[in-house]
Amino acid sequence: MKILIANLGSTSFKYRLYEMSESASEMLSKGGFERVTEYTPCIEEMLETLVKDGYLQSGDDLDAVGFKTVLGKDLSGCVEADERVLDALEGFKEVAPAHNPAYAEGIRCFQRMLPKVKRVALFETAFYQWMSPAAYTYAIPKAWRDLGIRRYGFHGASHKFIAERTAELLGRDDVAARARGLYVNGPGEFSGEPLRVVSCHLGGSSSLAGIQNGVSIGASMGFSPQSGLPQNNRVGDLDSMAIPYVSKMLGLSVEEAERQLNKESGMLGLSGVSNDARDIEDAANAGNADAQLATDVLIDSIRHWAGSFFFKMGGAEVISFTAGIGENDAKLRSAVCSGLEGLGVRIDEIANAATIRGKEGMISTPDSKIKVVVIPANEELVIAREVYRKVQAN
Ligand code: AMP
Repeated sequence: MKILIANLGSTSFKYRLYEMSESASEMLSKGGFERVTEYTPCIEEMLETLVKDGYLQSGDDLDAVGFKTVLGKDLSGCVEADERVLDALEGFKEVAPAHNPAYAEGIRCFQRMLPKVKRVALFETAFYQWMSPAAYTYAIPKAWRDLGIRRYGFHGASHKFIAERTAELLGRDDVAARARGLYVNGPGEFSGEPLRVVSCHLGGSSSLAGIQNGVSIGASMGFSPQSGLPQNNRVGDLDSMAIPYVSKMLGLSVEEAERQLNKESGMLGLSGVSNDARDIEDAANAGNADAQLATDVLIDSIRHWAGSFFFKMGGAEVISFTAGIGENDAKLRSAVCSGLEGLGVRIDEIANAATIRGKEGMISTPDSKIKVVVIPANEELVIAREVYRKVQAN
């Protein structure tokens, strides 16, 4: 089955073409365009390239196109990308302004250009569909809650991959099968030994998830991706009273406060150096106190959320690190796990230092009660797998 994954930014269009089967997946081709103002010419050029390179005879050879949609009003999961999805994206366009309009337009372009090819949307919120109301409800007036203001959680494709892969690595076929089939079968009943994972997706955008037996019980990100851990230039968690206060003291409009929280906060705002963790680390090593503080705040926030999930799940068997920072920053991983020997976490510093640049591996010692693993992120593959499962199930 040939599945195209379209990654739509507000000024970019990237794609990957996969050949998928029940037991295997192969990425046939990938490419992309920057400074995009219109998707139609990009899609035309992409199809020409895929035909010229012999992967397709025409666009109609595609079995499905998958979209990693972020946030829909009253809709989540892995679903056919139809009018319902377009309405759901429209309903929350103010909450995810960089993503929702782009995906709505991209879906419409494919609908127009390749009407016979199935379109499937995998929402980033999908992995959190089974969180309990206690975990997702904010203490706000009912009229606000009725608008759909609640915790949703994001990076769902990445954390779901961690749910599957950690179970495979620990030889837990029961949990791996449950996690794999989640969007098609739902969680069902589970009566095996517990497998509890604290999953840390640490990159330009970061989040933690608590995963119990393949299913998420909690997310650090909330109503929008502008919450939880400090992000590259987005704020993360903030007391809501800061906005009226700053508005009064600095004379900022709500829109300007929002812009600064979106663009000038997070690791950039804290360090004053860069939004890139490598630059911040270099500056901290050179004695820049603000850069050191940025790193310390990130580490503290990771530990805060990890502790929350550890407590809620009654423990953990695995701590997992993924994405740009999680896969590469051995020093940060070590700092996150420091002082946890009493809980049963022991890092093998040699394995930790060696597990970088896309390597998968165990970085805890053999006698560590809680296993610590590094798993390279591969969100496009996750989407391709989910789209395959969805198309097969129909
Ligand atoms: P991602 O969003 O997953 O692409 O991750 C991007 C982030 O990973 C950026 O902040 C990078 O600075 C960070 N990153 C990449 N390589 C390293 C590294 N060797 N050490 C620390 N951070 C890194």
